Amino acid sequence: MKKGLALAGVVGLVGLTVWLGTRFVGTEAVDAHWVGTPDTLTTVPVMEPLRVMYGFDVDRKRVVEGRVQRNQFLGDLLEDHGVPFEAIRTAVNRAEGVFDVRRFASNKPYAFITDPDSTLPAEQFVYEPSPFEYVVFNFVDSIYVSRVRRPVDTVEVISSGVIYSSLYETLMDSDALPQLVNTMADVYAWQVDFFHLQKGDRYKVVYEEYRIEGKPVGIGRILGAVFEHQNSPYYAVYYDQGQGDVYFDEEGGSLRKQFLKAPLDYTRISSRYSPRRFHPVQRRYKAHLGTDYAAPRNTPIRSVGDGVVIEAKYSQYNGNYVKIRHNSVYTTQYLHMNKIASGMKPGTRVRQGQEIGYVGKTGLATGYHLCYRFWKNGVQVDATKQELPASEPISEDHAAPYAIAKQAMLDRLAEIAYPSAPLETDTDEEEITDVETAPATSSVAPQAEPDDMP
Ligand SMILES: [Zn+2]
Repeated sequence: MKKGLALAGVVGLVGLTVWLGTRFVGTEAVDAHWVGTPDTLTTVPVMEPLRVMYGFDVDRKRVVEGRVQRNQFLGDLLEDHGVPFEAIRTAVNRAEGVFDVRRFASNKPYAFITDPDSTLPAEQFVYEPSPFEYVVFNFVDSIYVSRVRRPVDTVEVISSGVIYSSLYETLMDSDALPQLVNTMADVYAWQVDFFHLQKGDRYKVVYEEYRIEGKPVGIGRILGAVFEHQNSPYYAVYYDQGQGDVYFDEEGGSLRKQFLKAPLDYTRISSRYSPRRFHPVQRRYKAHLGTDYAAPRNTPIRSVGDGVVIEAKYSQYNGNYVKIRHNSVYTTQYLHMNKIASGMKPGTRVRQGQEIGYVGKTGLATGYHLCYRFWKNGVQVDATKQELPASEPISEDHAAPYAIAKQAMLDRLAEIAYPSAPLETDTDEEEITDVETAPATSSVAPQAEPDDMP
């Protein structure tokens, strides 16, 4: 369940992620350069530190580094560097079970290690599939292939920032990894809409960073954070009470909010979500992408969660309807209302359980019912089948240890300073939407899809 949510957070920000990815990795090959024996001799003996690369002493070696080009195969690359065909064939054979040479991918770093005093074109060829490991093709003495995992250190680091243009730029300025954006968006999915941050929003975060040889290569868990959104501080304290529901606020409440089981008191479910069913009015098979709840006229309809109204109007098929965006992952819609509750218009903030309208049969419907529709990451899904996250608060058993852990984290966060404000380049105080990405489109039905009746 937790894993699914983490994924949802990542999917929600996928546009941003892709951009960061290309920006950081780039697609051009790095120019190969030569390093090794200095050209000039010195008369003063100096103790030089041993130069070690990939576990080899390369003090007296020549190292050629580069990145794999598009459509460049392992064999081509080795051949280009003078490795004889017979040696390539032996190496590829001996790679079996160690490294799948078909996984040789463009843009990955590689290095040839050569002894200038030797006639061998390369003593070792090293390929790095990821920062976490490398593969050594050894050509000196006997040919062998080995795969080496680098030791990963986990260190706790802190970061803070003030939103002035987009969260992306703010995080870049604070030297944090782009992955932190996704992780924070996931932790705060129900409190902060990361696509609509406000100028002046700010955060402090304590998190785990993975490092290899001192260089950051990824991030682990967020251990604690405070995010001030529209001047309200939202605390997140990591704590495991054995339910996998791990972030709690300063009162011990879960940061994961649960939706109401149903948006109204209903008589019965008259039609379930189905990708294909016989339509009683149109007399043909078609998808029903909602759940129909039969209920008396004017039964109050409630928002299943906190959110912002994005549509509240009449349309030919939907009748009077309201659509609510809860966060970057979930959106819900309520159709065929007799009347939309007063004050409902795009931009209106609603609370969980708030009345948003009343049951009717407007639009394409013959009986009084509510058609309830549910989107997850832009795709319509069956609301009644969603495994929504548990949202249990800290239990009595864990109250005392949580209080201690929480206080320690709040003290740590209090010690972190916010960065000083950057130079103002514009005075636009409007909502900042730089990180907005195109919403995922439904793969199933367009908005104008006629609805149905019991
Ligand atoms: Zn329906």
